[in-house]
Amino acid sequence: MKPTTRERFQTLHAARPNITVTEMADALKVTRQRASALAQQLGVQLGGREAEAVRPCRYCGKPLDRHAKAYHAACYLKRHTVRLTCRGCKRTFTRTLRERNRHPGAGAFHNRECFHAYRAKAGAR
Ligand SMILES: [Zn+2]
Ligand SMILES: [Zn+2]
Repeated sequence: MKPTTRERFQTLHAARPNITVTEMADALKVTRQRASALAQQLGVQLGGREAEAVRPCRYCGKPLDRHAKAYHAACYLKRHTVRLTCRGCKRTFTRTLRERNRHPGAGAFHNRECFHAYRAKAGAR
């Protein structure tokens, strides 16, 4: 006797408890609605949406860990680092966005000395 869709659902779910609705629907050749309806009838929880499948890092495009947010830790830093030109000495320097947002001067001067030197010069004029 050919197994019913319901039976195949149960077999598949037993073999792969984390199977998603989409994967289940594909495997059973039914619609996603049918697959979730079956899951409901059988009282089982299908795995999350595709969003839980491997996601690429928004910076380098390589796969992320399941629990990672949108970037690898190192990529997050690179992504959130800005290259700035010091208003005082015109040298370029880098800041993470967090550092830059800490206070207004942090994005304009590469250090406190430059800031004060610039202010002193501006004030002298
Ligand atoms: Zn990355
Ligand atoms: Zn400077």
